[in-house]
Amino acid sequence: MNDKRWPVLVHLNATSLIDEGTDTVFDIVQQKVDPTGVLMAAHGFNPEIIDRGRTWPGHGPKGSHGGLGGYYAEAHDHFYRHTGLGSPHVTESPFAEFDAMAVGAKAAAERGLELHVYILESAGTGGFQRNVTNWPTVLEVDVDGRRGKLPCVNHPSYRAWKLALLEDLYTSYEFKGLLWGVERWGPLHQIIAGEQPACFCEHCRGVATAAGLDWLRVRRGYAALRDSVAAARADAGKPGALLRVLLEYPEVLGWEARWTEAYLSLHRELYGAAKWLQPERSFGLGLWHYYFINPLLQAEWNMADFSAASDYIRPILYHLPEGPRIKRYLGLLSTAFGGMREETIWAFFAEMLGLDLPKPAAFASAGLPADYVAQGVNIVRRNGGTRVIAGIGVDVFENGLAGAMTPEDTEAAIEAAWKAQADGITIARNYAEMQHANLDAAGRAIKAIRASR
Ligand SMILES: [Zn+2]
Repeated sequence: MNDKRWPVLVHLNATSLIDEGTDTVFDIVQQKVDPTGVLMAAHGFNPEIIDRGRTWPGHGPKGSHGGLGGYYAEAHDHFYRHTGLGSPHVTESPFAEFDAMAVGAKAAAERGLELHVYILESAGTGGFQRNVTNWPTVLEVDVDGRRGKLPCVNHPSYRAWKLALLEDLYTSYEFKGLLWGVERWGPLHQIIAGEQPACFCEHCRGVATAAGLDWLRVRRGYAALRDSVAAARADAGKPGALLRVLLEYPEVLGWEARWTEAYLSLHRELYGAAKWLQPERSFGLGLWHYYFINPLLQAEWNMADFSAASDYIRPILYHLPEGPRIKRYLGLLSTAFGGMREETIWAFFAEMLGLDLPKPAAFASAGLPADYVAQGVNIVRRNGGTRVIAGIGVDVFENGLAGAMTPEDTEAAIEAAWKAQADGITIARNYAEMQHANLDAAGRAIKAIRASR
């Protein structure tokens, strides 16, 4: 540790600034948490990032604003014209008239806070980019030829549009760094999760055939695997049925690997461009929570590679919501593997993943112990991560979670990150869902940590 203050960033969005007033929100955050900076969700579509909380935290208006999201700052059309896609600018009032980057930069500067930007790359949590012209043309194509919900990572227009957004943002505003959220997985994971596998568009075919894969057999294999898992879900499958399809069609694993490689190349490309634009600004990578509970994803995502294309890794280590999340994921796995017991799967997975946690019954609705935060930091380091900023979840809504987060939970999570020697923390994921009592608790924990250094 150096002699600088332990980095602490608090997630904010344009919704809170409009709902409660920019100065009010910045004052509350500074007085309660005393962070080194804020993370502004300048661009996004996923409701958990851009909207109000699912439960009312005791401040701000109640309920969703129903907005689609977009870019909450001034968009300059000439950056996007060549991409074939329209402007990312948010279209709904009052957001369309509001520049979160301009007001955020001013409010941060007045208080001596760093302004960082958070962008979550098209996660599958329900955001729809319907206000961007021509967006349907970049949507993924599933194994039956239907357009899906997310943009294809191999579509040149989508990649060019993200690069354009980066250029627009970096050349228009002063800010300290960008955190880029990586929260998608490949077609094999989608099948296990009970979804239609994607993508099988012409651009993906190009990627697959360039890698030597027989595209017809890739598609046949995925259709067969999808049908096999559907049969298992309908109680007609056996635990090993899925493995038999993988033996019959090794192309399934081949395309899963090549898709993942292409997906991860997107953030590497953006990292290079960001450093070319403004080398002194930090570029962090947000690590999806599934990385910690899914052995296949952990095998596919190399933390040394993540470190080579970032200044830090920010793992999502929201310990309370992770309990119900694991429980739900085990349910999906259990049906995909013909009704295998969840406890059996978890015992096997936990050992592979290096997690030391109680049995599912103990955490399914109560959430994980705060020590999960420390275990997560250690896993990223063990797997090749160098600089790790722990993502601490404060009042993160999750279906199935029994109780509300308490100040003791908040303090315990932050202390666990500190004891694991995290290089800093983010208070995640959205000020609009955080109870002020938990922000006070975060502030107490952070003050005690700083005093102890
Ligand atoms: Zn595609």
